[in-house]
Amino acid sequence: MSVATIVEQARKEQRTLLSEIEAKELLKEAQITSTAPVLVKSPDEAVKLARQAGFPVVMKIDSPDITHKSDVGGVKLNLHDEAAVRGAWGAIMDAVKKAAPQARINGLTVQKQARPGVEVIIGMTKDPQFGPVLMFGLGGVLVEILKDVAFRIVPLTQRDAAQMVREIKGFPLLQGYRGSEPADVACLEGLLLRLSDFVDKHPEIREIDLNPIFAYKDGAVAVDARVILEPPGS
Ligand code: ADP
Ligand code: MG
Repeated sequence: MSVATIVEQARKEQRTLLSEIEAKELLKEAQITSTAPVLVKSPDEAVKLARQAGFPVVMKIDSPDITHKSDVGGVKLNLHDEAAVRGAWGAIMDAVKKAAPQARINGLTVQKQARPGVEVIIGMTKDPQFGPVLMFGLGGVLVEILKDVAFRIVPLTQRDAAQMVREIKGFPLLQGYRGSEPADVACLEGLLLRLSDFVDKHPEIREIDLNPIFAYKDGAVAVDARVILEPPGS
């Protein structure tokens, strides 16, 4: 699916929020590695897809009305077998119906569970004055509580990307703190540069949130992606 096709489909449905599946399709075009969620409509289908993907899998709610899936109980991790997948189907549906009774639900997505890595966040927002700006930070509490993030204006230079990764206070964590696996910093820099290129080419995108990306010794994979389009006519 091309960016144009995805944008057109969203416009037709008067949506600005892309699904995780659509957002990750865009990432492919930006040459950013991600997990590959597949939409399923029944527990049987979920089991079939889980077998194809290989256990353990992650299941998530797919709804055009839900931006933060875990806030409504819409994410289940560590599903190691068929029984767990069937259980997760019911648990997610029940939780979401309770927490967001009005939300339209397309079904659930199934994707392979990525092995843990250092969690980082990369985002794009638009500044009224400077236009698209990229953000880099470490995932989880470091961003939420400490706001330990770096910003640069698009288009990024190689030097910008290198500085962003190094100027956050948590940089030692990327270098392998106390025996933990170091992160592939060159890969993260490349990712920032490719995202910069991509948003430069696609002004129809208002916001991107890759949260989290798991960074490894070799490579990195986006396990969640949220994309918001500009409203039509803007
Ligand atoms: P939310 O919409 O709440 O941000 P996420 O898709 O980010 O939902 O899922 C919540 C958390 O579950 C993530 O922060 C990540 O730690 C974990 N997670 C999500 N997808 C995967 C995956 N494919 N592999 C491993 N962990 C995952
Ligand atoms: Mg997320």
